[in-house]
Amino acid sequence: MNSKNEILQNLNTIGERIRNACEKAGRSPEEVKLLLAVKTVTPEKIITAVEAGFPIIGENKVQEIKAKYEALEETPHETHFIGHLQTNKIKEILRYGVDCIQTVDRLKLAEKLQRRLEFEDKTMDVLIQVNTSGEESKFGVSPAHAIPFLKEVVAFDRIFIRGFMTIGLFSAEWEKVRLCFRLLREIRDEAAGLNLPRTDLKELSMGMSGDLEIAIEEGATMIRVGTAVFGERMYPDSYYWPDKG
Ligand SMILES: *Cc1c(COP(=O)(O)O)cnc(C)c1O
Repeated sequence: MNSKNEILQNLNTIGERIRNACEKAGRSPEEVKLLLAVKTVTPEKIITAVEAGFPIIGENKVQEIKAKYEALEETPHETHFIGHLQTNKIKEILRYGVDCIQTVDRLKLAEKLQRRLEFEDKTMDVLIQVNTSGEESKFGVSPAHAIPFLKEVVAFDRIFIRGFMTIGLFSAEWEKVRLCFRLLREIRDEAAGLNLPRTDLKELSMGMSGDLEIAIEEGATMIRVGTAVFGERMYPDSYYWPDKG
């Protein structure tokens, strides 16, 4: 079987998994968007999946966005940034037309983003990344600081906060994984109740190839799936999720 057919078949399987999870949770599958996590994936394969009806792609590294930019230019899609963002990469994020930064997790980043957006007379959609698993190695604001941080970021009028993102605990103990996702939803619900200006906090980006069902049961509006669509990656995830150091 060629890889194009494999990708299409994988997308069908994920569609089924989404529908089953939604049914179990009493939700409509239309409430759950599939973001294609495309780190290391070639433009050709990305185009296959995008043209199959999944127009949101997520990249972890600015240099990959840059490298694939021309090849993807003719294929309408939305690019979300889902990796750790260094402030010196903000200019390029804007230059290459990123539509949403899902990993805003510190004030300095928000400040510099605001300043650059003002300079270029642009706006940006963002999600706030929360470290719900408490793992030392993961980025994201701590759950306790999520709301205070949100209130600070709201002051930046070029930044539109659309919700929250998390990476669940990597564990086969599903109840612990579930608690991560539940925590993110609770933070979102509390935040939505504050009725802050310029925010629309409905997005919950959570769940990946291995735990998307649990995330959907806990309210995910966007799942981020890589290996279950495109197969195993050549690089270990530590390449993309470097230690905070
Ligand atoms: C790679 C990645 C995913 C997808 O992971 P898979 O296990 O391949 O589905 C989701 N979110 C982020 C932030 C990622 O870097």
